[in-house]
Amino acid sequence: MRNPIQIGLALLLAAVVAIVAYNIYILETTPPERSYTEFLANIEKDEIQSVYFRGASITGVDREAKEFITFSPDVAGLMDKLLAKKIEISGEETSKSMGSFSQAMLPALLILGGWFIFSRAKSNRSSGFGEEKNSQLTAYHGSKVTFSDVAGIAEAREELREVVSFLKKPEKFSALGGHIPNGVLLQGPPGTGKTLLAKAIAGEAAVPFYSMGGSDFIEMFAGVGASRVRELFSEAKKNAPCIIFIDEIDAIGGKRSGGGTSGTNDEREQTLNALLVEMDGFDSGETVIIVAATNRPDILDPALLRPGRFDRQVTISLPDVKGRKKILEVHARKVAIGRGVDLSEIARAIPGFSGAEIANLVNEAALMAARQSKKAIEMSDFEEAKDKIIMGLERKNVVISEENRRVTAYHEAGHAIVAILLPDTDPVHKITIIPRGRALGLTQQMPLEEQYTYSRQYLVNRIKILLGGRIAEEIVFDHQTTGASNDIIGATEIATRLVCEFGMSDQIGPIAYIQEQQGFLGASSSFKPHSEQVAVEIDNEIKRLIDQCYQETEQLLRNNSKFIHKLAEVLLINETIDTEEIDIVHHCYLNEKEMEIEMRKQQRLKQQ
Ligand code: ADP
Ligand code: ZN
Repeated sequence: MRNPIQIGLALLLAAVVAIVAYNIYILETTPPERSYTEFLANIEKDEIQSVYFRGASITGVDREAKEFITFSPDVAGLMDKLLAKKIEISGEETSKSMGSFSQAMLPALLILGGWFIFSRAKSNRSSGFGEEKNSQLTAYHGSKVTFSDVAGIAEAREELREVVSFLKKPEKFSALGGHIPNGVLLQGPPGTGKTLLAKAIAGEAAVPFYSMGGSDFIEMFAGVGASRVRELFSEAKKNAPCIIFIDEIDAIGGKRSGGGTSGTNDEREQTLNALLVEMDGFDSGETVIIVAATNRPDILDPALLRPGRFDRQVTISLPDVKGRKKILEVHARKVAIGRGVDLSEIARAIPGFSGAEIANLVNEAALMAARQSKKAIEMSDFEEAKDKIIMGLERKNVVISEENRRVTAYHEAGHAIVAILLPDTDPVHKITIIPRGRALGLTQQMPLEEQYTYSRQYLVNRIKILLGGRIAEEIVFDHQTTGASNDIIGATEIATRLVCEFGMSDQIGPIAYIQEQQGFLGASSSFKPHSEQVAVEIDNEIKRLIDQCYQETEQLLRNNSKFIHKLAEVLLINETIDTEEIDIVHHCYLNEKEMEIEMRKQQRLKQQ
């Protein structure tokens, strides 16, 4: 059934069956109809027991308990007559009867759907000619989202409150002759709640919300994008005050190249031009706010950012630990959370998570709990969900050779022990040798607080922790594996930034050779122009730093090789160990070491 034509035919068939079934159902269940005149006569003669309104359609029951339906052209006028005769009145809002309305519409929708797929499949075959122009426009009336659903971005919210009050009372603003913001550009990484925020503005101001993705405008056929823009704006103007939301505006709003363009670029420029024309062409009476979202503000055409267009720019960044906790709270409201769950701790354990990832985390945790038929989500479910999101599912059924497990256990123990023994490092949260995604094992550290600046020592120790895995393997097995390749990449990156970006190398001095380019996603970096000689110096310095870290870490681990063995043995048995268990092993090790020192002292005393 993967063929669209087959699906189309199946839908058509389903529609026919549904129509027949529905008509039989109607015939079976619908009471007989009575004329309105007859109905009025019945009322006069006291023959009616009760009536039920569905808009203007009335279902009545007469004294003989017979049901009938009729239609009132004058519902308001009818009320007095019914009340005078003390007839029982009940009813429902017309919108509620949408249920039965959509029931009635279902077959029609199925036919349309079937026909749509059918014709698309056909037109695809006939080289795409005569394709229907179907607009991707989505309109929501009565968005239920409010600012309380958007957490952790208080500043952005405050900036947008003004837009809300403007949408609510445009007169107040225009009377003062003030400049009214037409366009708001929300810029920030994906999943930080830009769409949610736009919906919240509409919800707070109780205005319609038109949404369209930037890439929806760009079509194969010339002129479609531009006409869609015009369509969208004319629809919105009719329903002003309202909000137009354009997601991924960079898809149309990228810098115009000017001259010598390919077909799709041409189309994009036409669309962008249409958008600019529309944004400039508002009358004072038309309160339409255009909210656009992008994660690439750096590539936007400057024309979009000129006064009167998207002159208000609001930056939304990834949430910090407090923000993450607030977002967790918002999403935790929707699920059953167990007593032992500490949202602050979860927030700390997920640095770098966006709002969307946090929403996903809560959802995954709920699924984990449901799978085990729990009544509420527990801390362990969050832990599991987090690992799944970060690293992919546990590969429980993957067969790993005993040799590999041992190497992994020592490798992870190496990371962990360096982190435990060195000062100014993040505490080790968890070590595991259960393979996940592509990793065979993992040592997780958890910062106590969000850090915005790092000391040189912290960075150097991070390099050492990363190298610790490989070094432990070497000490114990005397060979190297590729399992450490990611660690090596990580260590090299930190060392490079330390030297070239943070100016922390004495040799090179406080000069930033790496220049980070603006941009959220593709935060690309390039090198400041420099001489060949400087390049050599930089290379040497990075190598010197890593070499030094390597030697010091090797020394540290050799001095504590018993600790490695202990921790690795526990890991091989338990597979996953947490902070508490790590502490226990650490204490055992320290005690033994003390005892050993004590023993040696005794021996020496005896020998003397
Ligand atoms: P964007 O448009 O920035 O890519 P979305 O608004 O589509 O992000 O976010 C996707 C989902 O992630 C939202 O529907 C919401 O469930 C969740 N989310 C993102 N940011 C937040 C936030 N700040 N507060 C609460 N939920 C959020
Ligand atoms: Zn490693």
